[in-house]
Amino acid sequence: MSEPTRSRAIYEGKAKILYEIEGDPEHLILYFKDDATAFNAKKRGSWERKGVVNSKISAALTTLVQKAGVPTHFVRNLSEREQLVRRVEIVPVEVVVRNRIAGSLARRLGMEEGGELSHPFVEHYYKSDSLDDPMLLRQWILEFGFATESELVQMREYALTINRVVGDFFDSLGIVLIDFKVEFGRIGDSIVLADEITPDGSRLWEKGTNRKLDKDRFRRDLGDVAETYEELLQRVEAAIQQS
Ligand code: 5GP
Repeated sequence: MSEPTRSRAIYEGKAKILYEIEGDPEHLILYFKDDATAFNAKKRGSWERKGVVNSKISAALTTLVQKAGVPTHFVRNLSEREQLVRRVEIVPVEVVVRNRIAGSLARRLGMEEGGELSHPFVEHYYKSDSLDDPMLLRQWILEFGFATESELVQMREYALTINRVVGDFFDSLGIVLIDFKVEFGRIGDSIVLADEITPDGSRLWEKGTNRKLDKDRFRRDLGDVAETYEELLQRVEAAIQQS
């Protein structure tokens, strides 16, 4: 198999770039940058190896999720910060799963962070930087054609499987999966996970101490951001090697 050659960049997001591949319209190269942003890019930062750490964590967790039956865009790693992925049409609905009260849920309802929920919440947000990703009602999603009823059912099922598999994995490392966001894409009639699973898009708290091992360290200026991401990668890799 010849190594894919990057051509035009078709999308540059806050933390990633997607490149087309010469002679292969069905795949793309996903490049993880060292940049970090928060609050819809109002806060910006960057640290060395951030893209490498996120690419490796995402590849490891995506592989776990794939083994549990969730189809994903991930094909294989091409380098430390580049992945070969399947080309999809992105569904403009971000799916958030919550196990504990934190972040915007705590803020909107004036609640303390950390309280357990009786069951995982599944929420939907409109993928729109210019509108700050507003929360969506189911009837809005259907009325405006952002996703179909059957796509919503499928995305919910996959998101809950990801929650179970990734949640159990982190639990075995002494880490609580508080919440996370994922995005899905269409390939023909099927839905596949088309997003990273990283500490950028999830909340991960150390059991017992509630030390934050995720992007809230950057968002909230908690310090040791790069070191904490590296620590998380080491813990993930050690657990994968043992399994
Ligand atoms: P919240 O709604 O509490 O801000 O976020 C819930 C979860 O989804 C958190 O784990 C957060 O990191 C993730 N999340 C929500 N929106 C985004 C987004 O636009 N980008 C990223 N990377 N993560 C998001």
